[in-house]
Formats: sequence, C-alpha cells, structure tokens
Amino acid sequence: MSVATERYARSQANFAAAQQVIPGGVNSPVRAFRGVGGTPIFFDHGHGAYIWDVDGNRYIDYVLSWGPLLLGHAHPAVVSAIAEQAQRGTSFGAPTELETELARLVIELVPSIEQIRFVNSGTEATMSALRLARAATGRRLIVKFNGCYHGHADMLLVQAGSGVATLGLPDSPGVPPGVAAETITVEYNDLDAIAALFAARGSEIAAVIVEPIAANMGFVLPKPGFLSGAREIAQQHGAIFILDEVMTGFRVAPGGAQALWGLDPDLTCLGKVIGGGLPVGAYAGKRSLMQLVAPAGPMYQAGTLSGNPLAMTAGLTTLRAAFAADGAAFAQAVNLTSRLAEGLGDLAARYRIPVQIGHVGTMFGCYFLRQPDAPITNYAEAKANADPQRYARFFWAMAERGVYLAPSQFEAGFVSTAHTASDIDETLAAAEAAFAQL
Ligand SMILES: *Cc1c(COP(=O)(O)O)cnc(C)c1O
Repeated sequence: MSVATERYARSQANFAAAQQVIPGGVNSPVRAFRGVGGTPIFFDHGHGAYIWDVDGNRYIDYVLSWGPLLLGHAHPAVVSAIAEQAQRGTSFGAPTELETELARLVIELVPSIEQIRFVNSGTEATMSALRLARAATGRRLIVKFNGCYHGHADMLLVQAGSGVATLGLPDSPGVPPGVAAETITVEYNDLDAIAALFAARGSEIAAVIVEPIAANMGFVLPKPGFLSGAREIAQQHGAIFILDEVMTGFRVAPGGAQALWGLDPDLTCLGKVIGGGLPVGAYAGKRSLMQLVAPAGPMYQAGTLSGNPLAMTAGLTTLRAAFAADGAAFAQAVNLTSRLAEGLGDLAARYRIPVQIGHVGTMFGCYFLRQPDAPITNYAEAKANADPQRYARFFWAMAERGVYLAPSQFEAGFVSTAHTASDIDETLAAAEAAFAQL
C-alpha cells in the first residue's frame, strides 16, 4: 500500500511504540488496519463530525467510534452532563435514579422491551442474553448466522464477522471445542436452513441470535421475511428469539430495526449508542424472561460498574438530544445518510466501478465487487465477492482527502447528527477523486 509517509509520521511513531507494550499495538483488532494495510492513524481529538489525528490532519468521521457517537464527537450537552456527574462521583456500586430514567426511556423507544438490565459492553449483553435463554428453556444449543458478530464470548466466536472476518481467522484458539459445538451456524438469509435445523434438533435449541442487518461482515440486509420467518420458527419450537441490536439500536430508527420492520423479539441486546460514547450495553425484553435475572430470579449476572452514573447520563443525554423535537436531528442524519449512499452509488456508476451500497437510517455500507452481477447476501458471498485490495486503495485515497472510513470493508459506516450537507458534498468530491484514481 502506497501511503504518504510524512503525512502520518507521528501516527507511525506512535504505533511502533504501542506495539512494544500492547499486543499488535491496539486494544481491539480491527484498529490495527490489517484490512487496509499501512499503519493505523492515531487520533488526538474530535469535535462534531470531525476528528484530528496526531499529525494534525483533519477528517470527516464516518466511523464514530464504530457507531456509538450518534451526536458526533464531544457534543456540548454530553460533555457537560458527564462533567457535572463526574463532580458528583463516577460510580457508587449502588442504585441511582439515572438508571431508572434511562431504562424508562429505552422502554418507551423500543417496542418489545418491558424490562432492561444494563451491563458494560455489547459482548456482556449477548453473553448474558444467551445465558438467560438457556436458563429459561433448560436447553443448550444456540443458533447464530455465519458472519454475524455478537461480541467475543466463547460461544459466539464461531463463524464470527468483524475483526475475525478482517483478519481471516477461522475461529479463535482458546475456545473449547465443547463450547463451540453447542453453537450451530447457518448462512444469513437462509430461512430453509433454519427450518431444516429446527426440524432436526428443535427441542434442543435454546435461542436464535441474529443481527437485523448483518453489519459486521460489511452491510447485508435481511431478505423480506427472513427475520420474521426465523422468529416464527423459533417460537414454534419454544426457542428464544434474540435480536442483537447493539449496532442497529437507535441507529436505523429510534426504536431500532424491530420498530422499523415490525419485529417482536423475546430479547434485545443493546450497546454502542445507548452509552453515548461511554461503555454501556444492555439486554432487555419480555418481563416474564427478565424476571429470571438475579436478584428477581435465579439466573446470575452482575457488574461492579454496571449502570454507573457517568455512562447512564451520557446515554440519556445522547438519546434525548437525538430524538427530541420529534426526532428532527435524527431525521436530518437519516437524510444525509441516503444522500451520501446514493451519491457514492452514482459516482461509482459513472466511473464504472462495481459496488454494492446499502443504507438504512444512519448506517451505510459499501462493498467493492469482483463480480458485478453477483449480489452479496451472506458471509460466503461476502468473502468470495468483496475486493479488499480495491477497498484498501479507496480507504487511503479518502484518508488523504480528509475522510475517515472504517479500515475494513467488512464494517459499516455511520453518520451523526453533527454532519452537515456540506460535509456530505465534501465527502462526495473526495470520493469522485478517489474513484477516478482507482
Ligand atoms: C459491536 C457489536 C457487539 C459487541 O459490542 P462490544 O461493546 O464491542 O462488546 C455485539 N453485537 C453487535 C451486533 C455489534 O455490532
């Protein structure tokens, strides 16, 4: 990868230093830029839609910390809420009113949710939701879809997307075969395969867990009837249907994909936006299930910093600002997302570059295709047809022009309420120049 070295000199020095003391120099694998080559960009500060790297380059940011920053960086209301709370204490390990307030707001926004338990990450949310499903059903097997990422718990690191997809790891060493054997994987969008699996082993299956948009293997939309069909099959066999809305929650619509598409999951996993940039996750759903969670019920799950007031206030402030005034700020971000995605599609067509671009709400994705007329609808097709070299060239051409995209084609992009029409115009002008040199 030919990267202008002087432009990123300080990032490169930082990365060399980090690699001495942190495995691979990063605290989460995709950040290492293996998906695009070169060395990762180290950031110094962010404001609104922009981030500045340690070399002083400014970027329009479409990563937004991988989704959480729905209001953009350092939103004044979030900063002052955090600062004010920090003065009053960052954690008590005891209940606060903020937890009930955020719980109420989430229940109001997300149709299927009756009760909610806050944790510290999306990984904890999915792990706990699956424990709950197993506790409720007394069954062991979990069904997940190839290329869907649900965090890094052992039982979910089977055919996982995201960093595992970027690095091309088969599955992770360290996951006991016995644990992996209890997770059965099916191709995304293949309803027949789910039906066949349940026909064979339905009475052993505790849960089906699925991303409503498969956005950790790029950006793959569910086919009409796929999610509702899976839900129905699970229900018929007494299995728990878990919608992992860690990424789509508060991103594709105020009530998540379930509100957008009329889905009624038993359990929902949340993360990312719900913490407004601080570490929060949650699992939530039907009261009858949530009542099994300790201390209301016997299923144990706990957390020293769970529901801490700093994170709760960041989440509350973010959701309130995004969805205040009938969601005007959110609606604008949705408009800008479609303008960006459609603009990119038009430009790619003009330069005869085969792409598959998708967008829902404030999320978007773009595959560069090897085979123009073979759409990507699942993980096998994504691996076969997405062109990582071309994406890498595009990524660096955009970075040079001040646009920061996900450093992997197998990740989604995000727009915030801080982005403006002129940011989108600037991005499309950069994309036109980048396409011209692909
Ligand atoms: C990001 C993500 C997770 C994991 O969340 P962490 O906070 O990184 O542990 C789980 N599921 C989905 C769909 C995600 O996008």
